[in-house]
Amino acid sequence: MCATKSEPPPMESTAPSSPPLPRSSEEEKEPAEADIDKDVLCPICMQIIKDAFTTACGHSFCYTCISIHLRNKSDCPCCSRYLSNNHIFPNFLLNKLLKKISARQSARNASPVEHFRQTILQTGM
Ligand SMILES: [Zn+2]
Ligand SMILES: [Zn+2]
Repeated sequence: MCATKSEPPPMESTAPSSPPLPRSSEEEKEPAEADIDKDVLCPICMQIIKDAFTTACGHSFCYTCISIHLRNKSDCPCCSRYLSNNHIFPNFLLNKLLKKISARQSARNASPVEHFRQTILQTGM
């Protein structure tokens, strides 16, 4: 039982792209988010809101962030108004928007090939 079957390398149709940039561990810099409206960032985790929930006072957070916060406190992290789990609502429209934004973000970070593919998809060629 010494016949080890070597797997042939998978056929890759993608064009050879430049090797990934070496990640410097000395300073973990956030990807450029200058063009992103800070309103789409969660005030708790400072990331693009995930599973957007809006409070009765009109502030938006990730569902996980606000639910963890409400486990310990009963106020809005933004304006300190009284808040409980009964006062937060899913914000479907914002969620949809945020998904688009994060998709655009990852498309920009993707390889040029992927970026090209996205462009084709958008123009409908
Ligand atoms: Zn958050
Ligand atoms: Zn608030």
